[in-house]
Amino acid sequence: MIELTGRTAIVTGASRGIGRGIALMLASRGAHVVAAARGENARAVVDEIAGAGGSAEAEALEVTEAGAAETLVARTVERHGRIDILVNNAGIARDQLMLRMKREDWDAVIATNLTGAFALTQAVLKPMIRQRGGRIICISSVVGQSGNAGQANYAASKAGLVGFAKAVALEVASRGITVNVVAPGMIETDMTRAITENAREEWASKIPLRRLGTPADIAAAVCFLASDDAAYITGQVLAVNGGMYT
Ligand code: NDP
Repeated sequence: MIELTGRTAIVTGASRGIGRGIALMLASRGAHVVAAARGENARAVVDEIAGAGGSAEAEALEVTEAGAAETLVARTVERHGRIDILVNNAGIARDQLMLRMKREDWDAVIATNLTGAFALTQAVLKPMIRQRGGRIICISSVVGQSGNAGQANYAASKAGLVGFAKAVALEVASRGITVNVVAPGMIETDMTRAITENAREEWASKIPLRRLGTPADIAAAVCFLASDDAAYITGQVLAVNGGMYT
């Protein structure tokens, strides 16, 4: 089993869905998790981790707010001396066909999904360079690889994360820092719960592995990329999508 004892991990968007699943699994493998979400939203997952015997703390983070990433990283370094793992997971969708898409919906999705990851990544690089190592994992989407009608803003943000991660991976490889991407398919969370039961069944029937994914499916890939076993992997995209896009 993957062992992450002694590592400090920041997970953005840790309050629900995939981020919550990642926080729970990182903690179950021994990492101390800094669970970040807006306001007090990450409190419940931290209680859940503590209840299971793990170690975590909740942090308020609005990824679109100037200076918020630097503050979170500074507080984490002050408390724990280091940051070993960053998971850029916080994300939103504001779906609309291109002809009707409002500029504000474009801006909100890019600001949260792409610029949010930029801010957190830039903030953790200094401590990671100082400690000569670190793991940065960005949560993209199958939609960033395949495109999807009604999601031009979301697809652009998720494809953007891939180019971003590949570029940063090349910049920091000599410092012992790896930067990778996990691209989930259709995962059971609030983001996908909005679709009807019929639509869900139709989706599932199109997925070669015949089911929607779970947050734990994504968390397992993240734990692997954060582990010593993945030390020689950088600048890569790991698709976790049940075969829905190959
Ligand atoms: P959810 O909607 O269930 O959760 C989104 C998380 O992001 C919440 O924790 C939320 O925190 C946080 N968040 C959103 N906006 C901000 C913000 N401005 N600042 C800080 N935190 C914010 O989403 P999922 O779990 O489904 O998705 C997680 C990631 O996985 C996203 O990047 C998404 O694009 C990606 N993904 C999801 C797929 C799916 O099928 N579900 C498929 C492929 C990719 P808060 O509690 O504060 O709202």
